[in-house]
Amino acid sequence: MTPLSDASNRTRRLAQLDQRCLWHPFTPMQLWLDEPPLVIERGEGFWLIDTDGRRYIDGVSSLWCNVHGHRVTELDDAIRAQLDRIAHTTLLGLASPPSIELAEALLAAASPDGNLTRVFYSDSGSEAVEIAAKMAYQYWQNRGQRDRRGFIAIREGYHGDTIGSVSLGGIDLFHKMYGPLLFETIFVASPCPQFHPAGEDAGRAVLAEIEVALKTHAGTICAVTLEPLIQGAGGMLTHPPGFLSKLRDLTRRYDVLLIADEVATGFGRTGRMFACHHEDVGPDLMCVAKGITGGYLPLAATLASEEIFGAFLGPVEAGKTFYHGHTYTGNALACAVGLASLKRFETAGVLEAMGPKIDLIARRLAEMRQLPHVARTRQCGFMVGIDLARPDGSPLDAAARTGAAVCAAARSRGIIIRPLGDTIVLMPAPAMDAETLDQLLVGVSETITAFFQ
Ligand code: PLP
Repeated sequence: MTPLSDASNRTRRLAQLDQRCLWHPFTPMQLWLDEPPLVIERGEGFWLIDTDGRRYIDGVSSLWCNVHGHRVTELDDAIRAQLDRIAHTTLLGLASPPSIELAEALLAAASPDGNLTRVFYSDSGSEAVEIAAKMAYQYWQNRGQRDRRGFIAIREGYHGDTIGSVSLGGIDLFHKMYGPLLFETIFVASPCPQFHPAGEDAGRAVLAEIEVALKTHAGTICAVTLEPLIQGAGGMLTHPPGFLSKLRDLTRRYDVLLIADEVATGFGRTGRMFACHHEDVGPDLMCVAKGITGGYLPLAATLASEEIFGAFLGPVEAGKTFYHGHTYTGNALACAVGLASLKRFETAGVLEAMGPKIDLIARRLAEMRQLPHVARTRQCGFMVGIDLARPDGSPLDAAARTGAAVCAAARSRGIIIRPLGDTIVLMPAPAMDAETLDQLLVGVSETITAFFQ
């Protein structure tokens, strides 16, 4: 027997320690304890490198947040430069250069028409949504409309894991357990034509459903919340073109706020800087996180219109203040790298280069649809869902966890991806080069083929 190398010994020790000490997110831990975990220790561009030196394409951009690749010089340098000044100071009662400079750049990037004018920082997408919900509620309270307490949201929507954002989430598997803890939300169907009974007419049907809810609950709704263009965690459910802009019209007509959760879709993921830009929609509140720092550090923000901000002004005794804030709000290191990331979008022409790569994804998906076990695919820019099924199109046995098994098999081809049930998700970094992107797509196709042979 050959002795284990130092590297394998270390890997084994780390894996054992992980299994002894950690509780992983969104993970059935009973299963986690069965297999030693893959331990990633380094990154290089669009590649992840494990403790044994094996390389993998980061096919889901480290949970949908990496934008420019790992260890990008400008981004690394921005953090180092900020570290030479200070790592963190509070925004409660003090201001800081990185948070100010990022806020200005963020508003310019997110709201070209200038309708969003204020940035409220937090640390995760869940908090950004939680804050948007609280702001929407308090906006109406501050304006004296005390009966406005309700929200309308979309089934299969996902907005994060804090109690407020879970209240707006519509995925039973994740959210049902917490039902008794949640505030009441009116849910309408997802307008994804592949799953709505109205098919291509899904957008119209769901807008009609929302209009009925707005009429029935007149004077009691604060806001409609949605993930614009595509519902990520619900299974990469794409919406019909025009749905978002028509929803915006509807919310204006019925005088309720529109909250756009761009946590997943923001920062280039859909081919434009934000999904709302595809339909020239200016929401009242926009939630951003994930890609805001290029995927380097935790940071989030809720962007608000001046109309909303104005409702929180007044004498302190009037009680209009937004009493919400987290310790690390506007963290200096995170804001510094956020600013560097926005600059890099311009210097590297990230959005301009995406068009041909989006076409490449579409071509490879068309090929994958020919595979007997691929029932459907959906794509919005660099966000992709590949539905696995039996060759007759019927669903696979959920208990077999085939999606997870296919993703595990992809590792031996040097690819890291994650499933949502039996939907394989691809979400490469918006800046991924065409060669690596094609290697990812071909590798996934080959993995699916080999898996079912
Ligand atoms: N909103 C959307 C649309 C998301 O996809 C996610 C995370 O996947 C969240 C909110 C929650 O973000 P976080 O995990 O940073 O709390």
